[in-house]
Order: sequence, then structure tokens, then C-alpha cells
Amino acid sequence: MSRIYNFSAGPAMLPADVMKQAADEMMDWQGSGMSVMEMSHRSKEFVSIAEKAEADLRELLEIPDNYKVLFLQGGASSQFTMVPMNLLRGKESADYINTGSWSKKAIAEAGRFCNVHIAASSESANFTTIPSRSDWSLNPDAAYVHYTPNETIGGVEFHTIPDVGDVPLVADMSSTLLSRPVDVSQYGVIYAGAQKNIGPAGLTIIIVRDDLIGEEMTGTPTMFSYDTHAKAGSMYNTPPTYSWYMAGLVFSWIREKGGLTAMADINKRKADRLYAFIDHSDFYSNPVDPDCRSWMNVPFILAHPDLDGTFLEQAKKAGLITLKGHRSVGGMRASIYNAMPEEGVDALIAFMKEFVKKNA
Ligand code: PMP
Repeated sequence: MSRIYNFSAGPAMLPADVMKQAADEMMDWQGSGMSVMEMSHRSKEFVSIAEKAEADLRELLEIPDNYKVLFLQGGASSQFTMVPMNLLRGKESADYINTGSWSKKAIAEAGRFCNVHIAASSESANFTTIPSRSDWSLNPDAAYVHYTPNETIGGVEFHTIPDVGDVPLVADMSSTLLSRPVDVSQYGVIYAGAQKNIGPAGLTIIIVRDDLIGEEMTGTPTMFSYDTHAKAGSMYNTPPTYSWYMAGLVFSWIREKGGLTAMADINKRKADRLYAFIDHSDFYSNPVDPDCRSWMNVPFILAHPDLDGTFLEQAKKAGLITLKGHRSVGGMRASIYNAMPEEGVDALIAFMKEFVKKNA
């Protein structure tokens, strides 16, 4: 069996050890005689899988006791709606930081429920940087402040947590959660679609502070209330059981590898190596301000865009796939989440070097 290096932004590579364990357990999970896919979510077997996954995630992220962890469906995109519905709590306005495509989607959705105040934006810089915290115009009466710590498309990442005082801070961590340690206590809500660092698509993780639960706006559908899911331990309806199980295997894998500090070291090393190569090349370039370059998604362009097609074709032949940049920005993008081995990044760099020799 041969595995290729897949640089997809998501769904993305999963750790090979996790896939092997899932394959071994596919037909008969630990002597139960059935697959996890076939289990009732209320069975003692699945409840043990679910509880272990939550306990491991809590340990990895050192999640304080006054936070609930929800394992839901609907993707991060549903959180663009659930956040205002649950967090406005009678207020009329929320602050949003606009750093790229995903921020914009969150902003557009919140605009259906409240006055969205754009407290800072890097749109005029074509989303290649993050507005300095001292230039943000936060509203002290805002219901919450929402930002996107890692913009998956633009490859722009916050490397520190912005101080927003007492207003709850809400983060769409879809493409950065579990890439490094994070101080959860600084946040009101953290949410993430699973399909990057966490597991397969279909699962969305929400970490929400207790005091923000239970005051959803009138008319909030039952399924869109954090309270519904918090009270039911994410089992109000059928949760995405298999994705939850797979996420649990990923959490164990991260723990075995040394936890989030170890992940951060490896991720930083991989990203530094790729950016250093790009910066020293006359042929490849990355437009993002070096202070806010993403460790997870590395966009780059070729000096001759007419070679884009050839680049992708030859990369594929070399076993390096899904390097095409997002359709909104073009060029290339290498997503290098936790499961991308260091050898994958080395193989990409070696290919990029070779490509210049042959074609430029
Ligand atoms: N936010 C960010 C930062 C993302 O990268 C994505 C998916 N690429 C989304 C939101 C949307 O997530 P989903 O497809 O799970 O709704």
C-alpha cells in the first residue's frame, strides 16, 4: 500500500496510526462484535468511547471545569449562526475582526441577527496581515468579540490571543485547534470543524463557558441552542458517532506524541522550513506579513502563473496532491496540519526545487 502526501485544506490527512487502528477495529470494536458505526449512541460501548474522547480533549487543552465541550454536527458554518443566537443575550451589537474569507462569512451570517461592528479589518491590505491590536476600535457594550485565529484560505494566523477585556472572546479555530497549546480560559467560545486537525468531517467541536449557555434568543431552534446540547451531553439527537470515535483516536495519538507542546514544535519546524525555502527562492513567493504567517496553511505563488497547471500535474506524479490554492486567491496552498509528516514537507520542498531547475 502506498500513501501519498495530501496537502488538502480539509478534509485533510489523518495520522496513519489512527487509520490503522480504525481499520483493525472496523468489524469488531474491542470484542463487541460490531463496528462503532453500528452502535447505538446510547450504548455503554459508545458512551465509553465518547467519554474517553472528551476526557482526552480536556486533558490536551487543559479545559477548565467551567467549560462544556459539545460534539455536534453542522460544521463551523453552523456556528456562524449559533454564536449570535446564543451569545447576544439581549444585546444588539457584536464586534467582529475581519481578517479574510472565513471572517467575512461569519460576519455576513451575524448580520442577520445583530448590528455587526467591524472593530478591525485587514481588507485594505488584501488580507495579508492582521491589524495591530492598538488600532482595534472595540465596543465595550458588544455582546462578544469574534475573530478567526487562522484564516485557512489566506494563510494568516494570530500568534497571540488578543486582549479584549471582559467582553467574551469567540474564536473560529477550525484550522488551528490542536496545532499548539491554547489558553482556553481566555475565551467565551471556541469552535472548530473537525476535518483538519481533529478527525473526519461531520463533527464540530464547541468549547463554551458555562455562563454563556442558556440565554439564547427567542425563537432559537432547539437544535441551535447550546443549552440543548450541553444538558444532553451532546446526545439530544444522534451525534456523529463515527467521527467522534475517530477524533478520540486522534486525541490519543496526540497524547502519545507528547501532547500539544510537541505538536507546536513540529508544526513550527515544518512551517519555518517551508517559508524559509519560499523566501530564499526567486521563483516562489508568499505575500503574508512574516509576523502572522500560518503554521497550518502556506499559500504561495509561482513567478510564472502560466506554469501553475504544469506544477500541479508534476507534483501529483511525485505523490504530492491537492496543492491548488483556493479558487478565490489562486496560486498554490500547502496545508500542513498535525498529520502531515515532516518528510512530507521535505518532499514538497525537494519537488519545488527540482521544478525550478526543470522549468524556470
Ligand atoms: N472556518 C474556517 C476557518 C474554515 O477553514 C472552514 C472550512 N474550511 C470553515 C469555517 C467552514 O467549516 P465547515 O465546512 O465545517 O462548515
